[in-house]
Amino acid sequence: MEKINFFLKERENSVFNNDWRKQYCCGCGACSAICKNKLNELKFDDNSGFYISIYKELDFKKCKNCNLCIKVCPIFHYLNNNYNLDSFNFNIEKFLIGPFLNIYKGYSCDKDIRFNSSSGGITTTIICCLLKKKYINGAITVLPYPNDTSKHYMTLTKSADEAMKQNDSIYCQVNYSTIWNYIHNNKGKILLIGLPCQLKAVELYLNVKKADTSKLIKIGLFCGGISSHLALDFLYKRKNIDKTKISKIRYRNGGWPGRKMIITKLNTEHQKSNDKIVLFDTKNSLFDRYLYKYCFSGSFFPECCNNCLDQTSESADISLGDAWLPDIINKDNIGTNIVITRTKEGQKIINDLKNDKYLNLKKIKPEDVICSQGKVLFGKKLNLWNRSNKKNNFELYKKIFEKCRNKYPQYFPDYFDFFERKIFNKLNKKGGNSLILLFFIIFNIVVIRVRKIIGRYFYIRN
Ligand SMILES: Cc1cc2nc3c(=O)[nH]c(=O)nc-3n(C[C@H](O)[C@H](O)[C@H](O)COP(=O)(O)OP(=O)(O)OC[C@H]3O[C@@H](n4cnc5c(N)ncnc54)[C@H](O)[C@@H]3O)c2cc1C
Ligand code: SF4
Ligand code: SF4
Ligand code: SF4
Repeated sequence: MEKINFFLKERENSVFNNDWRKQYCCGCGACSAICKNKLNELKFDDNSGFYISIYKELDFKKCKNCNLCIKVCPIFHYLNNNYNLDSFNFNIEKFLIGPFLNIYKGYSCDKDIRFNSSSGGITTTIICCLLKKKYINGAITVLPYPNDTSKHYMTLTKSADEAMKQNDSIYCQVNYSTIWNYIHNNKGKILLIGLPCQLKAVELYLNVKKADTSKLIKIGLFCGGISSHLALDFLYKRKNIDKTKISKIRYRNGGWPGRKMIITKLNTEHQKSNDKIVLFDTKNSLFDRYLYKYCFSGSFFPECCNNCLDQTSESADISLGDAWLPDIINKDNIGTNIVITRTKEGQKIINDLKNDKYLNLKKIKPEDVICSQGKVLFGKKLNLWNRSNKKNNFELYKKIFEKCRNKYPQYFPDYFDFFERKIFNKLNKKGGNSLILLFFIIFNIVVIRVRKIIGRYFYIRN
């Protein structure tokens, strides 16, 4: 009994207890996978709309206090690890986007894939080509649950045709815990797609296990944050949509940037129809644009996203994002990726696909990646306020801060977005679409436009 009390007390005092997880968990499932005693369980939490891992406290007597669950937790790592400036050799670009071999902008040479994918279709092209060449046994990608198509999980796909149907960015949290079985029981080579925190979890997990990493190719998506499923519920409610009658949801539809969300309705219980409903379309109205921002740019993000250090998937072999670049926005309506190669294997894959004319790529500079992600990237890297050891390292942080501000003043984080979000939440609670619209018209014209103009001026000048 004494022993149990000791463990419970240890856990309660631990920064990794259930309260901590309810706030910070990103739902990667690494702690469940590593615990031999199965004391951590990933569950969907209806209140928050996120998958969260919780300790099964009743079973605590089985806890060996090995702390492996803490060692594999990416968010614990982000919050407690210090920047090691020596490892960046004081190179700001490497500090901001991680280690890299080469950087490109480009797209898939298959026009259909490019048009139907989230950005330039390079992720889907890599998966399809590697499957067809039998370079990999399978790829772990997202799939909707058959009985609840608004939610997605990760699954092993062995066919290129199947992979082509999964080319979308899922902006609400995906159940990632299904990957661990594939990683455990992986005999041949497999490709895994993930967000920065998810791939960090894989890296930490494989380190702890001292496992062979050569059978895993990691494709990392850039990530500004993931939304709660409550965001979808909010949208369904506004449009009077019954979520049990949906057969498919697409977050990015119709070319690039594809800010049009479409759902396909079920006719009868298991019968698909072509009956499509536009959940919203940012081309339609200013209000829809802000609705998109509200749902998928912050208000519905979990706390882990506000403390995350990685925008560009620094643990990946190849990282992919949107090419939000001045020479592409306004001109391209099909889609262009930014591609970062980080390992020799990642570089070889990109070289082969480029030489075989599957990909059209042009080299760009690290500064372009920084420009494409702008203040979201700086916000992540310079959000130091929750770091446990910030007080001890204040001088170091100040140095980084100033270096970044001197070189990239135009993208420096500001607090407009923060206030914008707070005010939106308040007005929405009061229930007025027209109030929200009025607020954003003023906000958009007066603040955001001016900020963008200044930002572009600096970019062109530099
Ligand atoms: C939550 C989220 C936030 C993002 N934030 C940014 C950002 O801030 N800046 C930026 O430049 N780019 C961001 N991206 C990446 C961007 O939306 C594209 O996914 C990326 O550019 C790849 O485009 P593509 O055309 O090559 O991908 P596609 O060919 O369309 O393939 C996308 C692949 O990603 C997989 N996938 C989709 N969603 C998820 C998910 N949630 N978890 C794991 N795998 C998934 C699918 O299975 C599919 O195979 C984000 C993506 C996501 C999912
Ligand atoms: S400390 Fe070890 S035994 Fe206890 S929950 Fe974590 S992984 Fe499991
Ligand atoms: S972020 Fe991952 S490792 Fe950390 S508590 Fe959540 S599921 Fe566990
Ligand atoms: S912002 Fe960071 S913590 Fe949030 S989903 Fe993206 S990678 Fe994970």
